[in-house]
Amino acid sequence: MKAAVYKGKQKFSVEDLPLRELENDEVLIKIRYSAICGTDIHAFQYDLISVGHVPGHEYSGTVEKVGSSVKLLKVGDRVTGGGGTPPPGLGSPARNLNQFNFKEDGVYTDIKKTRGLAEYTISREWEPLKISDKISHLQSAMLEPCSTAVRAVRLSNIKIGDNVLVIGAGHIGMLCIQAAKAAGASKIVVSEPSLKRREVAKSLGADVVIDSSDPDITQTIISSTDSIGPDVVFECAAALPTLDLAFDVVRKKGNIMLVALSWEAVPLVPIKWVTKEPVMALTYAGEPRDWQISASLMAEGKIDCSTILGDTEFIKLENIQEAFDNALKPEGFQAIVEFE
Ligand SMILES: [Zn+2]
Repeated sequence: MKAAVYKGKQKFSVEDLPLRELENDEVLIKIRYSAICGTDIHAFQYDLISVGHVPGHEYSGTVEKVGSSVKLLKVGDRVTGGGGTPPPGLGSPARNLNQFNFKEDGVYTDIKKTRGLAEYTISREWEPLKISDKISHLQSAMLEPCSTAVRAVRLSNIKIGDNVLVIGAGHIGMLCIQAAKAAGASKIVVSEPSLKRREVAKSLGADVVIDSSDPDITQTIISSTDSIGPDVVFECAAALPTLDLAFDVVRKKGNIMLVALSWEAVPLVPIKWVTKEPVMALTYAGEPRDWQISASLMAEGKIDCSTILGDTEFIKLENIQEAFDNALKPEGFQAIVEFE
């Protein structure tokens, strides 16, 4: 099978790898779509993918073969690449360890595991989530980022009727807009530099869209949220000034949820905000419950991925190097690998 193998120093090579035999509790998944995540791009940029590893964690596919003791899945089941409930003691070390430094410890060190940027992947039977017929393979590949947005909203202290600001309308920002709406947000304000993305944000239910290059952006946001500032801010940009902006605009005792995370130091002047007593929280990926909620929201049409994928480039695995190189450029895009 063809797989995108990381060779170190920002280089991939597409190689023919042998497909090993399944263990009793494993399933073989034929991949249909595999999206390149922002985390993959960061790991590539900082050369943090182990040499020999095949990354990719946002994928969909079909079960092609099952091990002798598998009960949870059968041949022909449509699945997404995560969201299953781990048996006690298993699951991601990033989730289970008390201290885990994601920048230093957290990126794709399990080189034995060939993940989604390959024609096939092997999983324990509990790892993937079975997908209903109401969700397409393409939507199913977006369930991982969707679960991240849903978890961010669920942990954000959002209340029915809250005014919400989403900073940055990339894929995660667009998913947060929809998840916040599903959670009962009343007004959603979006700040985003790209006109095209602002238009998409509007079509997804944003009430006010603001060009983030507006020199008076702080005041513009505050005046569009009852002149007191948003109740909840979702920081989905992780640009140098955006966390500072989140604190500047959030209302007194409001909540800031860091969804996109900077990998570099960002300038902050905390004394500016002390009288507001704001609360900031971080969130990490999605837990099984968040995946299940995301799948329900997709099936009910409350989260729509087709619109947000409007400008996505669909590529063949052979073009993976170009796709990662492009993603590092300022105007770069995140591609989705499409398999036969
Ligand atoms: Zn991801």
